[in-house]
Amino acid sequence: MKVLVINAGSSSLKYQLIDMQNEHVLAKGNCERIGVDGLITHKTDDGKKIQYEVAFPTHKEAFMEVVKVLTSGEGKVIGDVKEISAVGHRVLHGSEVYKVSTKITEKVIEDIESFSELGPLHNPPQAAAMRACVEVFGKDTPMVAVFDTSFHQTMPEKAYMYALPYEYYEKYHIRKYGFHGTSHRYVSARYLEITGKRPEGTRVVVCHLGNGSSISAVKDGKCYDTTMGFTPLDGLIMGTRSGAVDPSVVTYLMNKEHMTPDEMSDMLNKKSGFLGVSGLSSDARDLVNAKNNDHHHGAQLACDMLRYQIKKYIGSYAAAMGGLTAVCFTGGIGENSSELREECCEGLEFMGIELDKTANESASGSEMMISAPSSKVQVWVVPTNEELMIAKDTVEIISK
Ligand code: ADP
Repeated sequence: MKVLVINAGSSSLKYQLIDMQNEHVLAKGNCERIGVDGLITHKTDDGKKIQYEVAFPTHKEAFMEVVKVLTSGEGKVIGDVKEISAVGHRVLHGSEVYKVSTKITEKVIEDIESFSELGPLHNPPQAAAMRACVEVFGKDTPMVAVFDTSFHQTMPEKAYMYALPYEYYEKYHIRKYGFHGTSHRYVSARYLEITGKRPEGTRVVVCHLGNGSSISAVKDGKCYDTTMGFTPLDGLIMGTRSGAVDPSVVTYLMNKEHMTPDEMSDMLNKKSGFLGVSGLSSDARDLVNAKNNDHHHGAQLACDMLRYQIKKYIGSYAAAMGGLTAVCFTGGIGENSSELREECCEGLEFMGIELDKTANESASGSEMMISAPSSKVQVWVVPTNEELMIAKDTVEIISK
């Protein structure tokens, strides 16, 4: 069975075609600059890379191009579109309604559109990609929606509520939702799978560290708490996002700098984080180079802030869950930066975390245990695979 996985952003549409018999990626690519002009990059499993410009006025044209490039020309990997048995769509926000992945119907698409206020950059294009998909494939190809928020729906009320007047929860659904759920679910489940552990009794902290970063506490295989909140702005310092700040800073600065709500949101989402603190770059590699080679203060500070915050969350989530079985690192930074992993674990020996430095240095990008055999708490690098998780959910749901 071949499953097409679609991840639509505001101006992009990423895709992967996965053969679920062996979980092999036949082709993957990205349509960029949708609504601007259009560029597609397509890679096949036998190493071909094709890139060309093509007009993408909307997500529909991009989706049609994906089908074309998969079935014809140099990048062809299947003979006919009918070979695609199902399509799995990544969806940012499922509100409190979608607690698990769901088969897509017209009602589901309408619901996803109706959550657009909660996910303004992602939900509208994701719904548009679903509609485009229905138009191109017809109604016979089943589609499944996999929500970034679903995994976190198991958080207890005490973890997801903000201490605001309760009416705002009732009126506007203001609460912590959490994001990167597909990654947190994949990594925590994969850890249990590799180690042959049953979920009951395990307490795992998953650190997803990339351009966007979040940490989750996974107790008995279910999400107990997470760092992102009502939106993906909360929690850790990120590439351009501030992470948690005292809310008074927002009102104070708006008054002082005469900022509108949109300007404030822009500053917090796009001009803060690594970029804002370092004044240099939003990319973690640039910061590591600048601090190590040029002793750049801002770069050093941004890196110090990240590792300090990660350490605090590991400690607080261990306390919240009443113990710690394992810490798993994933995402571009978590998978590739042995330096950061070492710094995050430094000084946590009192909690039973003992890193194997040699294993840590050789682990980059691969699935590997990086704690010493004597470590009470295991530490792992588990490269995330959200696309595979989406494809697996898709197969499971359409087979029901
Ligand atoms: P996204 O959140 O967009 O999916 P990724 O998970 O791909 O992002 O992570 C991108 C981040 O990972 C960038 O900040 C990049 O610099 C960082 N990164 C990749 N390799 C390394 C490395 N070896 N050391 C430090 N950071 C790295």
